[in-house]
Amino acid sequence: MPNANISVELTPPDISPYMTGNTGVEYVTRFDSGKPGPHVMINALMHGNEICGALALDHLFKHDIRPTHGVLSLGFLNYKAFLTFDAQRPLNSRYVDEDLNRVWTEERLDSDEDSSELRRAREMRPYFDTVDYLLDIHSMSTPSPAVTLCNGLDKERDLTRKVGFPEYAAYGSGFVVGRRLIEYTPFHDSNNAKTGLLVECGYHWAKETAVTALDVALFFLRALNMIPTEFFDAHVTNNPPPPLKGLEITEGLYSKSNAFRFTKQYKGMEVIETAGTVIARDGDEEIVTPYDNCALIMPNHNVGADMRVLRFARLS
Ligand SMILES: [Zn+2]
Repeated sequence: MPNANISVELTPPDISPYMTGNTGVEYVTRFDSGKPGPHVMINALMHGNEICGALALDHLFKHDIRPTHGVLSLGFLNYKAFLTFDAQRPLNSRYVDEDLNRVWTEERLDSDEDSSELRRAREMRPYFDTVDYLLDIHSMSTPSPAVTLCNGLDKERDLTRKVGFPEYAAYGSGFVVGRRLIEYTPFHDSNNAKTGLLVECGYHWAKETAVTALDVALFFLRALNMIPTEFFDAHVTNNPPPPLKGLEITEGLYSKSNAFRFTKQYKGMEVIETAGTVIARDGDEEIVTPYDNCALIMPNHNVGADMRVLRFARLS
């Protein structure tokens, strides 16, 4: 069955030229400037159907991106899921067995459990251990404005400010079961400088989302002085960017029943003025905003029971 009512404006790129790479890890390529500097990595396809990041990396490869110092790595993470992408059924290729962005705990990585995603995570783990700055490119299920997500560690906030794009940054726990790659221990340790940021670039398959993803990569690389100004200027679209707006995520909202429905077709980033405003119904229960000027982050309208459906945030 095709997925209903979904328009796919983006065409997934051919990533087969990047399979072999030069790192011994499939779909990971490294460019070494030969000069001292950090190891910076940009990831696409943590979720196989979020193709904007793959388009951004394809663009960088095709325009011969090279770091001016340090090392730049480009990786396509859940390529196995991506290779099943079908524009008629775009929801189906998010992962093969499980969400690759939930497995980054030592307990799971060191366990005897097996899944396509755990195999990929174990293969990538030693590589991530060498990365100083990581950008993980994602997209969303609604046409929300793009947003940087991180936990809110000082080093993450500093890097987010330096990058300065997209317009919104939401700080706080993802309220997820398991851990995302940006929470993998080396990145989540406030005693070192290793930093991971996750950016949600917009609606999964909108044309504009691919433009945003490329811009996110360019602003990230510029913030770390990894690319010449001429390269940045030649490829960027949203420049200068609007001033950064920070949001502090305070809680995650989970559905209890299959009958969870938002009262409106929220896209994300709406700010609801008055505490107690009804924004959803979960069976008989009314779900209300917990405080004044409450921002709604990443509403998920395709929900069943026991799913994260939203995060609430305060403007900061
Ligand atoms: Zn994602």
